[in-house]
Amino acid sequence: MKIDTRQIPEEGVILTEEFSPKGLDLDTDIIRFPGPIKAKAIIHKSYDAVNVILFLSALMNINCARCLKEEKIDYSRKIELNYAMDKADPMIELDSDIREEIILDYPMNPLCKVDCKGLCPKCGANLNEGGCHCGATQEKAF
Ligand SMILES: [Zn+2]
Ligand SMILES: [Zn+2]
Repeated sequence: MKIDTRQIPEEGVILTEEFSPKGLDLDTDIIRFPGPIKAKAIIHKSYDAVNVILFLSALMNINCARCLKEEKIDYSRKIELNYAMDKADPMIELDSDIREEIILDYPMNPLCKVDCKGLCPKCGANLNEGGCHCGATQEKAF
């Protein structure tokens, strides 16, 4: 999303754009975006600065860090960004800031539920679904 600071009218302007998650390089091992990231920016200019109120929304798929079960999350976020006006370079490029804000929101250790039992380290069975049959976890107290 690019803002041409010379073309922001007195009353402000609204820009919308859809980003592909690939374009922003957002996918990780446990977080994926099945659709576009939608951005709406309300932009105002003052004498020496540009103020951007940014609304982001996207569908986010997150794998539980313990059992890998996929959870779908409706991600939405309101961000305020401020830029100093630069006469030498009237263009403001928002993409890297948008990417950074989304990544800051990534859960560090997402769990499908707080007491997720995870997977059996031996056979990989989901222990939330009643344990496994390989016996590796039967004796261990979780
Ligand atoms: Zn889990
Ligand atoms: Zn097992």
